[in-house]
Amino acid sequence: MTDLYRPGDHYKICDVCGFKVRASETKKRWDGMIVCLPDWEPRHPQDFVRGKVDKQTVTDPRPEPEDVFVTTPVTADDL
Ligand SMILES: [Zn+2]
Repeated sequence: MTDLYRPGDHYKICDVCGFKVRASETKKRWDGMIVCLPDWEPRHPQDFVRGKVDKQTVTDPRPEPEDVFVTTPVTADDL
């Protein structure tokens, strides 16, 4: 790499690999890092996944019936 002067094309240090590259060969990533072109990558699509509302209600609910107690003494006719 020659360090020749090019007007408007200064050097930058890649935030990922640390190499010195021309400004025209760098790109800003989604996370704000200025990287060389081989180190540039788009934001992963899984970062945009949002949760879905989970409907946990019971369909067609009914109230609990009254308890039925067996009176004492229990005879064969109660069963
Ligand atoms: Zn790099």
